[in-house]
Amino acid sequence: MFKCDKCGKITRPREKQTKKVVKTRDKTYTYTDKFDRNQIKFKENAEIVKEISLCEDCAKREENYE
Ligand SMILES: [Zn+2]
Repeated sequence: MFKCDKCGKITRPREKQTKKVVKTRDKTYTYTDKFDRNQIKFKENAEIVKEISLCEDCAKREENYE
């Protein structure tokens, strides 16, 4: 089990963990609003370069927005 870096949920046992490299330097990226997960926001020129862990739900959601 692990904690999803996106929605903060503790996953079920054996749930698949998806690693997503978040490279935001000099590029526009989308993120989900913390308080309203249906709302996708855009951010520009962020300097963060990191890797996050996603639960299955968030991984699916990410695929849909690729
Ligand atoms: Zn999640």
